[in-house]
Amino acid sequence: MGRQPAHPGRDRRVTARRPPLTDLSALGTGTKLAQAGRAHAHDMVNPPVARASTILFESLADLDAALKDPDAGLYYGRRGTQTHWALEDALTQLEPGAAGTKLFPSGVAAIAASLIACLDAGDELLVSDSAYEPTRTLADNLLGRLGITTRYYDPCCGDAIADAISEKTRAILLESPGSLSFEVQDLPAITAIARARGITTVIDNTWATPLRLQPLALGVDISVQALTKYVAGHSDLLMGSATATPAMWPKLKAAFYRLGHHVSADDCALVLRGLRTLNLRLDRHEQSALAIARWLETHEAVDRVWHPALPSHPQHALFSRDFAGATGLFAFVLKQGSRPHTAALIDELRHFGIGFSWGGFESLVLPVELDRIRTATTTSLPGPIIRLSIGLEEVDDLIADLDAGLARYQAQFGA
Ligand SMILES: *Cc1c(COP(=O)(O)O)cnc(C)c1O
Repeated sequence: MGRQPAHPGRDRRVTARRPPLTDLSALGTGTKLAQAGRAHAHDMVNPPVARASTILFESLADLDAALKDPDAGLYYGRRGTQTHWALEDALTQLEPGAAGTKLFPSGVAAIAASLIACLDAGDELLVSDSAYEPTRTLADNLLGRLGITTRYYDPCCGDAIADAISEKTRAILLESPGSLSFEVQDLPAITAIARARGITTVIDNTWATPLRLQPLALGVDISVQALTKYVAGHSDLLMGSATATPAMWPKLKAAFYRLGHHVSADDCALVLRGLRTLNLRLDRHEQSALAIARWLETHEAVDRVWHPALPSHPQHALFSRDFAGATGLFAFVLKQGSRPHTAALIDELRHFGIGFSWGGFESLVLPVELDRIRTATTTSLPGPIIRLSIGLEEVDDLIADLDAGLARYQAQFGA
């Protein structure tokens, strides 16, 4: 008979500690994406998919050390494992000026937690009129019930944000470009005014990702992404992230823990896989979308194209100043007709799925109605708005498909 074995949890020689972040800011984008978050992988290229609720401690001394600093290493599954740390750290390393990142079960959950982190009962929130619709629903309903009032402002206000601010304003939500109507906001102008008054700014950076826009460097306090879209990139999961400055990081982290959010290690591994190719995919999304946008601008059925990288876009100068490039989501407005007419255009498209979300490898089309959503601004348009998410298909196939769709659309008017 051998020695009685110890409890397996007490056999460990090393307790998993969280290694410090390395600074990747001097590296080029592709190199950064190859290196980001890799400190957690050790002897494999990728971190293990570590699923856990209970973490076992070696001894009372080990438990007491962990209680003193729960974020220093493995503690309890809800605080994450190496797989979560790898993705959190990778996203932090992509955002100059960031102290840390938290992961959420969806983009909407990340927006909600970020706003809750910086608002209290009696405070006022300013939301861009171009904001994602569920963000508005959250503000109008849940935040309203918590005693936080919301007012909407014109996304193109620039310095005039000062006129919208009241004594009670504690946070400003930005979204640039707006994911339906593509207005570009003057971020440095708005954040300078907000900082001077101690107002926190939160941006929804889903369209641009940190590869195309680095909001913290422009004075924003919390940068949120729906990783669901470009970062995951394959239309097979939902996740959100919020990345904060050193000043906002403790509040964001506290809101994350108190709300009890957690994402699965399996989904983190999928998002990390997407992140490694994000630059290649975005370059292709950008090139194809721009080619299609330029082609649409010359089409006789099209009134205007809303794509911030086109010189015809009203805020093109702001876009060129602040963004490192574009992505693959934009919209165009038809010269005539109404929503029921769009069935002739979209129902028989071969390469464009009809559906919500975007940022995947496959192209999507969606007719959009702005007036139903907006309260601070109005746009008078001659025909329906069509939003396109341009995927990784060959651009000639997509243009031929849209060309046939627009011919079907025009035929309804006897053209
Ligand atoms: C999709 C989307 C979100 C929300 O992401 P989910 O993961 O679906 O909750 C937030 N903002 C924008 C701009 C989006 O397009």
